[in-house]
Amino acid sequence: MAAKRQFSAALAFLQALVVMTEPVPQQQWSNETQQARFMRRCVELADEAVDLGGAPFGCLIADPASGGRVLVEGRNHAGRNPIWHGEMDAIDSLAQFLKPQRVRDVAPSLELYTTAEPCAMCMGAGERCLG
Ligand SMILES: [Zn+2]
Repeated sequence: MAAKRQFSAALAFLQALVVMTEPVPQQQWSNETQQARFMRRCVELADEAVDLGGAPFGCLIADPASGGRVLVEGRNHAGRNPIWHGEMDAIDSLAQFLKPQRVRDVAPSLELYTTAEPCAMCMGAGERCLG
């Protein structure tokens, strides 16, 4: 079980690296040390997701303007609900965290980190809610 979990976490990390290598204008991102810290935390969340019966995916939403504060975290819970992906968990937590503010009013200044390229559902939710 531990070996399977380590493999899952390693796979999630490699998927995160693939996403991170896509060209993104540098000025839109926080500094590299912060990105590495956020990605390490996402891998930890992916590991926790496996422990909770989900798939190895984790996500967080941070506010780079506040010194890189992590606002919310998400874990995949697809073992219990097939649409409860890490990104959906984080976006839902963000809505709860920001109340009574609206997510769309705050989201343009935030950054979402995830261990894999978001699926079509999560990409759509991210664009709709955070874009
Ligand atoms: Zn998804």
